[in-house]
Amino acid sequence: MTSIDDHRIDSRGLAALETRLREDLAFLCYPGKDWVPPRDGVNDVVIIGGGMCGMVAWLGLRTGGLSRMRVLDRSAPGHEGPWLTYARMETLRSPKALTGPAFGHGALTFQAWFRAQFGAAAWDALDKIPRPMWMDYLRWYRKTLEIPVENGVSVDRVEPEGDLLRLTVSGAETGTILTRKLIFATGRDGTGGPNIPGFVGDLPRRFWAHSADDIDFAGLKGKRVAVIGVGASAVDNAAEALEHGAAEVRHLIRREQMPTINKMMGIGSFGFTAGFGELPDEWRWRFMQYSLSTQTPPPHGSTLRVSRHPNAHFHFGKATMRIDRTGDAVEIRFADGTSWEADFVILGTGFRIDPMARTELGATAGDILLWKDVYAPPPDERSEDLGGFPYLAPDFTFREKVPGTAPWLRNVYCFNYGASASLGKVSGDIPGVSEGAAWLARSLAASLYAEDVDVHWQDMLDYDQPELNGEEWRATSLDASVRTGKVA
Ligand SMILES: Cc1cc2nc3c(=O)[nH]c(=O)nc-3n(C[C@H](O)[C@H](O)[C@H](O)COP(=O)(O)OP(=O)(O)OC[C@H]3O[C@@H](n4cnc5c(N)ncnc54)[C@H](O)[C@@H]3O)c2cc1C
Repeated sequence: MTSIDDHRIDSRGLAALETRLREDLAFLCYPGKDWVPPRDGVNDVVIIGGGMCGMVAWLGLRTGGLSRMRVLDRSAPGHEGPWLTYARMETLRSPKALTGPAFGHGALTFQAWFRAQFGAAAWDALDKIPRPMWMDYLRWYRKTLEIPVENGVSVDRVEPEGDLLRLTVSGAETGTILTRKLIFATGRDGTGGPNIPGFVGDLPRRFWAHSADDIDFAGLKGKRVAVIGVGASAVDNAAEALEHGAAEVRHLIRREQMPTINKMMGIGSFGFTAGFGELPDEWRWRFMQYSLSTQTPPPHGSTLRVSRHPNAHFHFGKATMRIDRTGDAVEIRFADGTSWEADFVILGTGFRIDPMARTELGATAGDILLWKDVYAPPPDERSEDLGGFPYLAPDFTFREKVPGTAPWLRNVYCFNYGASASLGKVSGDIPGVSEGAAWLARSLAASLYAEDVDVHWQDMLDYDQPELNGEEWRATSLDASVRTGKVA
């Protein structure tokens, strides 16, 4: 991996890039004309989440002329998302040249940002993007675009109020906020939460953690650590434990073999991005179910980061059924009748999609239409996990299970991983977020426009700015003299 320390940071390069970006935006007449009729004390849009998706959604809407928007994030400034908290990989999996949230602006890409500071040679030498550096880039993105993310503000509750939504917030701001539209840009677990298997049941917390928890790795020195699963997060957490001096780390893996092929990455294309959301249910389900069942392999580099330790082990065919406390350790019991003792268990079991696991929507989360409510797959394509995904409308909004029970859900947009079963990979991973944001902005603008159509119609009637002042032409009469060419 390239050491960026080897390369001189050129702040003039960055300043020049910022000038170029400002110029490009000005050439494109950014931001667009403000066209939404204002309502007193009401925001047009509130975005929950100031991570990558929240910011690119803001840029999409701002480009389209919206201005009465707020972006709220409960984390500390510059610490949005997983990058500096529970993401534990050395580098991103994504190829370095992905354009991500650049929204069609070359000067806004990670590549432009990197080259401007470290130069072309460093870019060529760079293999993958170091994880903390991705956060540095996102901070620059926010600062340069002047995205008004309000940190330390948690959205705790969303309730309808007429045709508006009333949000209850806490933290740096307390009270309530009114908005017409609400975007959940709440991240990988944004329509659910960590997947906690039942087998940890009553096990005291000091014996286990989920990979998304704040884990005291120093405390694992000399300990026997079991990691359930072998996905990207499982492997990254195993590596951290090993690097902090764990006595041994054992991956306990249900499947018989290591997944080795990243199917979704392989078929990624503009066609998939544009076309997936329009496919019939059976095709959308088939793609997603196949992807979930074949499982995304852990990244090459992350796996090697574990394997280079002689005290790291990968055990396949070990489906955990129960974990019992045995004094100061735990006994992990497998489906094949065997068991193993460990001092600490890390669940690398990922996240589950379950709107009920989110508290913001209260009991209304139970009114959200899910895939399992609308689609019965063939027996060999069944998936309980996939059935729990929301069955979204084509504009990213939630639908009701029973029409009429919570019609206000049509003003709530799911712009996070939860949208993937319905609309594909356009609102979570880095590659498709700009397309997703453009799609979201267009849909949301269309909805606002339709709701205000009376006002826009009146605007049309009232508009009386002449483009011609009457001096530009002269009216003449059309009579026989014109045909004969004789002038009367
Ligand atoms: C460990 C990990 C590694 C990943 N690596 C890659 C990778 O290499 N390549 C790739 O393409 N993708 C990767 N992803 C997937 C994806 O890129 C990330 O999840 C990314 O963070 C998504 O951006 P986001 O804006 O949707 O969510 P986030 O970055 O998670 O931002 C969501 C924000 O919402 C805020 N929030 C949530 N609820 C509330 C609330 N109620 N009130 C206020 N604020 C709230 C949170 O504080 C958070 O800052 C990874 C994901 C994880 C979890």
